[in-house]
Amino acid sequence: MVDYPQVLTIAGTDSVGGAGIMADLKTMQMRHVFGTAVVVAVTAQNTLGVQDFMALPEKLINEQFASLAADFSIRACKTGMLADAEHVHVVVEALKKYDFGPLTVDPVMIAKGGAPLLADDAIQTVRDELLPLATVVTPNLPEAERLTGLGITTTDDMVAAGQAMQALGAKNVIIKGGHGHNQTTAADYVILADGSAFWLSAPWIETVRTHGTGDTLSACLTAELAKGVSMATAIQTAKAYVTAAIKNTIQVGHGHGPLNHWV
Ligand code: PLP
Repeated sequence: MVDYPQVLTIAGTDSVGGAGIMADLKTMQMRHVFGTAVVVAVTAQNTLGVQDFMALPEKLINEQFASLAADFSIRACKTGMLADAEHVHVVVEALKKYDFGPLTVDPVMIAKGGAPLLADDAIQTVRDELLPLATVVTPNLPEAERLTGLGITTTDDMVAAGQAMQALGAKNVIIKGGHGHNQTTAADYVILADGSAFWLSAPWIETVRTHGTGDTLSACLTAELAKGVSMATAIQTAKAYVTAAIKNTIQVGHGHGPLNHWV
């Protein structure tokens, strides 16, 4: 019998199966860890956009945490879509109550099609309550701008944003450059807890099939951390995994299609 490390995603569902909890579980499976999930919100979406979503009642979220905590030994966890300030707070309280190992915070705010997945007034709750708990945080450029209040257009700005995220309490930070304009490479800035920093770059892939890239990166990172590998190695593995999954395109849906996890 294979003893897979157990990991947890705390996030929203995606009816496409390409982002959110579904992307997380697929990625975790591919990385040979056992994925569990606390569902915070349910979305109705396809590759053309997000049609609707609803966050679950606080009681049911707390019951999911309690059920898992009573039966599983979670070695690493991640957060994704958290919907609104009230739900961010519920998740923060659970993360303080239970030991789920290192925490990856993917501060999901807006889907690529433009649909908000986090209420505006929740950004402050993420900044004040969730970031101080983060072992590693993985914002894209717009998310890093909202969380730090900085404008980010240059690589120097990305370095400043990484330092600002650490000042907000996140121990390790990846600022994902994939949402920048005029790209030839998809370069991410990484600053680690000990202050060392490096850039991760991969050739720019021109495709609309990028649904769930952020979830996939943070889920892979969480899986690697559960295996006990170093933060730098986990980040490099996650970047390589998501790059391969973007390259390895699959034809489903009519719009921003999901990644192919058979990498
Ligand atoms: N739906 C859910 C539940 C998500 O968590 C996310 C991203 O984290 C998305 C949709 C958006 O995915 P994308 O912007 O990659 O299309």
